Amino acid sequence: MGKERFVNQFIHGTGASSGIVVGRAFLVDRSKVRLPQKAIADTEVESEIERFRNAIEQSKVQLLEIKNAILDEEVRKHAFILDVHLMILEDQMLIQETIDAIRIQKVNAEWALDTNVERLSKAFDAIEDPYLRERKNDIKYIAQRIFRNLVGHKHDDIAQIKGNVVVVAHDLSPADTIQLNLKNVRGFVTDMGGPVSHTAILSKSIGIPSVVGTEVGTSQINGGDELIVDGDAGVVIINPTEQVFKQYLARLAQRESIEKELLKFSKLPAETRDGYRVTVGANIELLDEIPSAKKRGAEGIGLYRTECLYLGRKDLPSEEEHYETYRKLGEAVFPHGVTIRTLDVGGDKFLNHDGPVQETNPAMGLRAIRLSIKEIDMFKTQLRGILRASIHGRFKILFPMISGLEEIQQAKALLFEVMEELRRDKIPFDDHIPVGAMIEIPSACMTADLLAKEVDFFSIGTNDLIQYTLAVDRVNEHVSYLYEPLHPAVIRCIREVVEAGHRAGLQVAICGEMAGEPAYLWVLLGLGLDEISMNPRSIPRVKKILRMSSVEEARELLEELFRMTSGSEIEQYVRSTMARRFPEDFLEIYSWDQDGGPKS
Ligand code: PEP
Ligand code: MG
Repeated sequence: MGKERFVNQFIHGTGASSGIVVGRAFLVDRSKVRLPQKAIADTEVESEIERFRNAIEQSKVQLLEIKNAILDEEVRKHAFILDVHLMILEDQMLIQETIDAIRIQKVNAEWALDTNVERLSKAFDAIEDPYLRERKNDIKYIAQRIFRNLVGHKHDDIAQIKGNVVVVAHDLSPADTIQLNLKNVRGFVTDMGGPVSHTAILSKSIGIPSVVGTEVGTSQINGGDELIVDGDAGVVIINPTEQVFKQYLARLAQRESIEKELLKFSKLPAETRDGYRVTVGANIELLDEIPSAKKRGAEGIGLYRTECLYLGRKDLPSEEEHYETYRKLGEAVFPHGVTIRTLDVGGDKFLNHDGPVQETNPAMGLRAIRLSIKEIDMFKTQLRGILRASIHGRFKILFPMISGLEEIQQAKALLFEVMEELRRDKIPFDDHIPVGAMIEIPSACMTADLLAKEVDFFSIGTNDLIQYTLAVDRVNEHVSYLYEPLHPAVIRCIREVVEAGHRAGLQVAICGEMAGEPAYLWVLLGLGLDEISMNPRSIPRVKKILRMSSVEEARELLEELFRMTSGSEIEQYVRSTMARRFPEDFLEIYSWDQDGGPKS
């Protein structure tokens, strides 16, 4: 039976890659194959294992074919994901344990593999880092491929998609996405996935608008339906009426002209009307993001997250890889500077030569600087790479998740050791490279005066600071209503840090998501931050508002906030103040990002 044809149906998800596109839906069938489950006789065990091994081999051949057929340079950069999948096909946990299950439990290969995959997925669910947790899907994609090969179910040949389409799927594996001829793909819509899913990462990096995690996309969209994909609002409109369609076209034109208008501010100094200068930096993870950051007026990279160098591979990045990456970055943004944050990830997966570390409370576990101090060789390799690159630009080193004085001293001691080694080897580096501590744990706020004696600058990471101050998991949707950036406790923490930093003559930066929220600009200005670093897309608007503001009015606002008692009261007051003062900007922002559809 066919599906109902929806007209002017709005569905909501996560806008994973920005932009608005219109196109016809192309449905990719990636529904689960029905798995036969049966017990087998002793005499069938060996042939069942053979059948399983054949399906594995077939899967390897298919993935290699996909990999070899990639023509597009941009897509080729993502081919490492296929290598990860090929590695999974060699993984003993997956293969040997499935074979053991066939042999011991006397069940068919499909049943044995399905049980094994479920067990592995549960282990992944316990991982706190959203990027790593998402990787359980890699095992699921692979399992689906093996299942299809076991039951003889063909994969759709999505490499053959023609015309300008919006690809709609329950979920897309990296192998699927990579196979697509991206020149024919205008947008992506998936039922599954969050902002760190493969589809999201890839679509963002190649600039194709996407909405992920719609839950109902494939059940409500038919192949050939006309779709509007609004990657900014996280909305998909199925078969829009002419009126909505026109509104969206107008919205698209308006968006382009707003962006163009805003870009005029990108080259202007980030200075208030009363002459207060703030450095506006960009937070980036990939070198590919540099042009966009520069175009939008970033005065350097205030936070370079180095995790990308480590994830999605079985070995560790070499000193040369570190050096090359940082050198390119430093040269690309010169004369502005780059703050390189050392590795900030949990100890649960990438160090796979040691086996995963099981932690019941990974957010408070062996992560970030704690891991670096423990894995000394890995840490020193990164530090050597940074130091060697330091002569090719203006660099700063930032240590994440500092919880107290001894930790920063230990990190610095290792840095000094590396410096000594480089001197001995006559390898040049900047021996005045500024060293900073990320302030994202309440204990660091409370001891900021002590930490200030050990570092050259502070950078406040509010994403974690809010999580740890309010005891609210930053990725748990059940408690997200408590995640309040303007909670009195958070504002007080920031004030403490800025004051302690300034008393010691340090510059204090902020690099959490808060920094890119235009509504919070006055709060940050009032608190006296010297640098605000944010996702590049926010920069032009923040600069524009900054240039129309004065520090005096920001401080007045802050004084009033300190008389208030709750996060929600402060949030409301700040938003209404900003909307009154900058009606044009806030009307624009909120009609764009938060209403989930055009206003009629
Ligand atoms: C933060 O915690 O605010 C931050 C910038 O770091 P990350 O989001 O990478 O933890
Ligand atoms: Mg952090």
